[in-house]
Amino acid sequence: KSGFVAIIGRPNVGKSTLMNQVIGQKIAIMSDKPQTTRNKIHGVYTADNMQIVFLDTPGIHKRQSKLGDFMNMTALNTLREVEAVLFLVDAADGMGGGDRFIAEQLKDVKTPVILVLNKIDQIEPEALLPLIEQYSKLHEFAEIVPISAKLGNNVNTLLDQVKKYL
Ligand code: GDP
Ligand code: MG
Repeated sequence: KSGFVAIIGRPNVGKSTLMNQVIGQKIAIMSDKPQTTRNKIHGVYTADNMQIVFLDTPGIHKRQSKLGDFMNMTALNTLREVEAVLFLVDAADGMGGGDRFIAEQLKDVKTPVILVLNKIDQIEPEALLPLIEQYSKLHEFAEIVPISAKLGNNVNTLLDQVKKYL
């Protein structure tokens, strides 16, 4: 199996950290300028006769100039072409306007979206369920997976969930 997976989320939620954790090397950082690169392939994960191509999708997270609008359209089209979208959020920060803006744009995208609650190493276990309930109101997520990209907690579970959609 092989497929393309797009990673979206506002800045600093841990997109590069997750890719580093999955790919297992420090290659995901590269150029990370939002709005200037389009659909950069950040890494390819290969295991068990399966390949996942991770795309960082810049330009989805804020409305800016005319160029910004164009980038948003490009980003949206990318989201329509991939097998699954990983929507990363910062569980420690909680839900914010940036998350809502992204969710709004996902309204017209039929691709399965997996909500990834990152940085769970920074929250109390009791805080998880309320967060899930809150985010569930934003979009009908195909899956919801709490992880710590930094520590690697539950990242294998996330990959198992992704594989279901390839
Ligand atoms: P990006 O902008 O979405 O690519 O975010 P980065 O991957 O650059 O991460 C932003 C910051 O969050 C960095 O300082 C990371 O070390 C930190 N970070 C990422 N994932 C985790 C996590 O699971 N737990 C904690 N505590 N910090 C994290
Ligand atoms: Mg990054």
